[in-house]
Amino acid sequence: MDKWLVMSFAIMGCCTCLMAKGEEKRIPAKGFAVFDDSGEFKPFEFTRRPVGDNDILIEIMYAGICHSDVHHVRQDWGKTQFPTVPGHEIAGRVIQVGKDVTQFKVGDYAGVGCWIASCSDCDYCKTEMEHLCKKRVLSFASVDHTEHDEPTYGGYSSNYVISEDFAVKIPQNVPMERVAPLLCAGITTYTPIRFSDTQKGDKVGVAGFGGLGHMAVKYAVSLGADVVVFDITEEKREDALRMGAKKYVNVNKPEDLEGLEDSLDLIIDTIPFQHDPLMYLQMLKLNGEMAIVGLPPNAEVPMIPTSALPMLPLRKVYGSNTGSIRQTQEMMDYSVSHELYPDVKIIPADGKAITEAYQKIIDGEVKFRYVIDMGTLE
Ligand code: NDP
Ligand code: ZN
Repeated sequence: MDKWLVMSFAIMGCCTCLMAKGEEKRIPAKGFAVFDDSGEFKPFEFTRRPVGDNDILIEIMYAGICHSDVHHVRQDWGKTQFPTVPGHEIAGRVIQVGKDVTQFKVGDYAGVGCWIASCSDCDYCKTEMEHLCKKRVLSFASVDHTEHDEPTYGGYSSNYVISEDFAVKIPQNVPMERVAPLLCAGITTYTPIRFSDTQKGDKVGVAGFGGLGHMAVKYAVSLGADVVVFDITEEKREDALRMGAKKYVNVNKPEDLEGLEDSLDLIIDTIPFQHDPLMYLQMLKLNGEMAIVGLPPNAEVPMIPTSALPMLPLRKVYGSNTGSIRQTQEMMDYSVSHELYPDVKIIPADGKAITEAYQKIIDGEVKFRYVIDMGTLE
């Protein structure tokens, strides 16, 4: 045989063998993606990175649908890179661990929230505030610079590969379908409640009584705060009182708002659409604090006129974004020990069902969080 032909075969054979090895290591995954601005979810197959020495492989059991997923798919915050697999409220079972993993073993339960990597070198990372690192990597809709710039695909899928340092431990014997939304709705409201040091007897307002808002109510009530809930509908009045709120305000009813000026120590604003933040600021007491977590679309960002602030002196406004892994673990343990779980509506792992759920979230027709049962994925 021609010697060049022999060499070619040898090289080809070798490449095939190497490729086969590399391909074998990548983890096949399937789930649901949106492919264009139609917003429709359709089946999508892809692979995840091989399980590294510090990684765990999670078989996803449940994935919550956060309004941030909805904003992202609808391109509320700018152009979205399609195809996209949202989902950052992930709860599942560990089915493989890398050789250096110490905190998880096969069979444990684990959660994935918003963040899966950071630089580990900056002041934020060194002080366990890695969720504020400038090089943090989102669990979905991001580019993982620590993994050859791979796109990150989220939790509406069969599995997830994550470093154990970014995974959250979930105890056994908990309602996993209700645990999933804690990974974003839970931590995003727990963080400001702790940052503002909410205490028994404090007066806490929760603006926007949806996925995040109802968890804020549960945490604040559990700490002994007197909670006032603000939303735009009558349909959630009973739910707020059932969850322990002292008062429910339908902001479309002016009489509901009477007597609230200068009355609240903390307001957590979770509203995902245009609204008037000044109306809420006027309800803060001296030294009161308003935490903004809602992220309305770029085209309808609410504004606070600076000239209004000196007329409402010595009140503070701050933003808050998810939470660190350390605090997410603290939130998980607190939620489980106090049995503070979201009210959820379970839907099957089906493109049509997810697409419909998105519309219902926008129309305000969910109490209080949709969760996809990934176990029903075919
Ligand atoms: P939901 O859609 O579950 O809840 C939003 C709630 O706000 C609904 O109850 C809705 O009412 C209510 N609402 C809408 N407009 C008004 C208004 N003008 N006044 C009072 N209430 C109003 O959303 P989520 O809780 O999942 O998310 C809320 C926001 O938080 C989103 O913008 C999301 O992107 C953001 N977010 C921010 C994070 C962060 O780290 N900062 C993390 C996660 C989410 P109804 O349903 O009755 O119509
Ligand atoms: Zn979220």
